[in-house]
Amino acid sequence: MAEASSNGAARGAYEPVIGLEIHVQLATRTKMFCSCALEFGEPPNTRTCSVCLGLPGSLPVVNARAVHLGLMIGLALDSELAPRSIFHRKNYFYPDQAKNYQISQYDEPLCRGGRLGEVRIHRVHLEEDAAKLIHVGSSGRIHGSDASVVDFNRGGTPLAEIVTEPDIHSAEQAGEWLRLLRTTLEQLGVSDVNMEEGSLRADANISLRPAGSHELGTKTELKNMNSFRFLERGIRAEIVRQEEVLAGGGRVEQETLHFDPTSGSLTSLRSKEEAHDYRYFPEPDLLPIAIDAAMLAAAREEMTELPAARAERLERDAGISAESARLLAFRGELGDYFEAALAAGADPAPGAQTLANWVTGELLGRLPEGEDNPAATPASPQALAELVGLLGARRVSAGAARQVLDRLLADGGSPAQIIETEGLAAMDGGAELEAIVAAAIAANEDAAQRVRDGNAKAVGPIVGYVMRETKGRADGGEVARLINSQLGV
Ligand code: ADP
Ligand code: MG
Ligand code: ZN
Repeated sequence: MAEASSNGAARGAYEPVIGLEIHVQLATRTKMFCSCALEFGEPPNTRTCSVCLGLPGSLPVVNARAVHLGLMIGLALDSELAPRSIFHRKNYFYPDQAKNYQISQYDEPLCRGGRLGEVRIHRVHLEEDAAKLIHVGSSGRIHGSDASVVDFNRGGTPLAEIVTEPDIHSAEQAGEWLRLLRTTLEQLGVSDVNMEEGSLRADANISLRPAGSHELGTKTELKNMNSFRFLERGIRAEIVRQEEVLAGGGRVEQETLHFDPTSGSLTSLRSKEEAHDYRYFPEPDLLPIAIDAAMLAAAREEMTELPAARAERLERDAGISAESARLLAFRGELGDYFEAALAAGADPAPGAQTLANWVTGELLGRLPEGEDNPAATPASPQALAELVGLLGARRVSAGAARQVLDRLLADGGSPAQIIETEGLAAMDGGAELEAIVAAAIAANEDAAQRVRDGNAKAVGPIVGYVMRETKGRADGGEVARLINSQLGV
């Protein structure tokens, strides 16, 4: 919106406020309230029973393992675990919800409060997933209209819903934090956290407020973002939309939105419902969950090392910077790769900090679009350890090492062999390099004169010439030393 309105503030005058609601499919063997098996990709409607089909007279029973996994999540998020919590019926009609209500938790959830990184947790509760509606369109036309069919295999899948406080202030921060949460849940083993298969789905609540204000603005909710990229793009698009509404003097309507990643458009699904619309009431067919000491002990027993603790350990034991340690631990697959490389026993041994820099910098920057895990590439941790070891021993220059990494990522193999066959071994500062430096100076007399006159930055073209001639094999420090000595500066 180009023109500023009389009462609207300028772009950038608003602070985004974001809270996330994350649904996590729990890795149990059976469903939340019945003994149907949980399996992904089975033929439709083959994993059902009277309970998860909502037939009259059937009675739910709470899955103890789901409660156990919920407690582990609560412990990991530093939540207060409720000694007693209850289930409620959340009433609404939807074709994939045979009972016309969902069993969820309302004002007495399993866990309250907590924190992960810089984001406070509001609550964690247990519920069941709906079944799956599949839009078959014109191929399933009924009476001339497009049709949808329903698969009840997913109906009754155990979910933990994690609700944050509105402590996030940008799309990037939302993506980073969700990665940290995913790594935490993955490390705990409570879910397979597969976003594509829907085991981890995030709703983003977004509002804007004038920068410096502490009041909350009216929020909208982006539903079911199933990839980090869509989440970030959707939030960015919604921030821009709200900025335009507010800058134009308008008011943001409270509503639920769908972000279409292909077109980048936002469409309204429904105006926002309130809690009282759902006619919540206590589920009469289930007993309260009463946590006892044995259940707590069992949950504590199964806790594993979490990303925050891993970051501390990497900093302490590998002796790398706090920042590197956080990056590696919060993106667990990078930490796994780094630790595998450190343990690979390469000779010469790589320096841990240099290795960390190569994993979080050069390697991460070269991963193909949509790939988060360096272990899925042909470049093995062992090979990277060797390469960084050779770099440290000055057997290969940084520039040539980057070329070797490109080859490792494309075809795998051994760094020493690639260096050999591609002629990428470091040049020592012998007569050959001295001659190339002399030629570089002769070819760039103007630059050489400016360096002699005291402009050290003018050296660029001379260094560039040397690096081209040596295909990046020359050591940068050595080149600088030779140029200065030949120019007499
Ligand atoms: P609802 O009843 O609409 O689900 P809640 O108060 O339960 O709203 O909050 C749901 C999520 O929305 C939480 O993650 C919370 O942090 C976030 N949230 C609440 N108010 C705002 C706001 N004004 N702006 C951004 N996020 C918000
Ligand atoms: Mg909500
Ligand atoms: Zn069932």
